[in-house]
Amino acid sequence: MIISGDHQGIGMTSQRTRERLIKRLRSKGIRNLAVLEALRNTPRHIFVDEALASRAYEETALPIGHGQTISQPYTVARMTEALIEGHNKLESVLEIGTGSGYQCAILAQLARRVHSVERISALLEQARLRFRELGLRNIRLKHSDGGIGLPEYAPYDGILVTAAAEALPQCLLQQLAVGGRLILPVKSDQGQVMLRITRNEDGFQQQTLEAANFVPLVGGMI
Ligand code: SAH
Repeated sequence: MIISGDHQGIGMTSQRTRERLIKRLRSKGIRNLAVLEALRNTPRHIFVDEALASRAYEETALPIGHGQTISQPYTVARMTEALIEGHNKLESVLEIGTGSGYQCAILAQLARRVHSVERISALLEQARLRFRELGLRNIRLKHSDGGIGLPEYAPYDGILVTAAAEALPQCLLQQLAVGGRLILPVKSDQGQVMLRITRNEDGFQQQTLEAANFVPLVGGMI
């Protein structure tokens, strides 16, 4: 997919800066070429406040207002890689926690259709404008509490949760297609961990990927 719009050559936000980011992600172990290509294609600086644009390609989470953060590039790449590993093209993916929209824009380049839900309407509307500006047309957004998933479009080949849950939300497991995967951070005794749960014919298989550091999954909508 080609991301449209004029986002080139804006100093720190130029293509060259993005190339450095890709190099860094490779050195940290990201191998999936489609994932690297999606990150290379996506201007992260338009997903943060203008005042932070010059820091958009650093390996750091940044504030996006309302007490929320855009995840650091490595985390986005790692979660996306864990989601799509071994799949060619995912048909339908659900993201919980649209936030800035950055992770969603990456997913939109790797799946035919992406649904994303966000509980804070102001963030959702900002993300909607960004997707329009980038010409991303395969994203459906919903202002909703993602704790219940998005049953109306289930099942999904992939579900990615970008806020940390207290426990594994059973309803999300039920919205996975057979062969589908759920990637999510959950709280544990050792702090947060990133899990991958795969649904197969006979049930679910759980893997622990690595330590995580996300804002909490919160109930209700504002
Ligand atoms: N994927 C985002 C990360 C944003 S941080 C990005 O790329 O920028 C996590 C987001 O999850 C926040 O915007 C927060 O408001 C949202 N969130 C937290 N609990 C939620 C819930 N129950 N339902 C939907 N969104 C939720």
